[in-house]
Amino acid sequence: MTEAPSPIFPQHGGCQCGAIRYELRVPPFGIWACHCSLCRKQSGSAFGLSMGVALDALVFVQGEPAVWTRETESGHMLDCLFCPTCGSRLVHRRHAHEGRQTLKPGTLDDTSWVVPGRHFFPESALDWVKTLLETPSPPPS
Ligand SMILES: [Zn+2]
Ligand SMILES: [Zn+2]
Repeated sequence: MTEAPSPIFPQHGGCQCGAIRYELRVPPFGIWACHCSLCRKQSGSAFGLSMGVALDALVFVQGEPAVWTRETESGHMLDCLFCPTCGSRLVHRRHAHEGRQTLKPGTLDDTSWVVPGRHFFPESALDWVKTLLETPSPPPS
C-alpha cells in the first residue's frame, strides 16, 4: 500500500454546494471502504468511504445539516446527516454511538491522505473494482 501523507489538523471540509462547512480537529480512528449495495446506493458511486471520528472531534462551523434516520440491517437506528440544499451526505451517527461517528471523507477539502485501511464486503464489489483490489500496489518510487 502506498504511504499516505500525514495531514495537519484541523482539517476542513463541507458539502458540494458549500452551505455546510465543518472542522475535523483530531485524527480519525480509521478509514475504510464498503462495497455493499447499500453503500453503493448511498454514495451513488462504486463504493462507500467512511472515516471513524470521535463525536466531539467534528464541529460544524457553517450551516445546519438535515437528518434522515434509517434502521440498519443489524437493527441499529442510524442518523444520516446531509446538506438540505445539495444533498451531500456528510456524517453517519448510530443512536448507540459509543462516542463515535463516521464522516464521509470525500467531503474533506484535502483528500490526499484518505486511504482506506480496510475493505468491507469485497466480494460484493463491482468487477472492475475487484480487479483493482487484487492488483498489487507498485513499490514506492
Ligand atoms: Zn450543500
Ligand atoms: Zn456498506
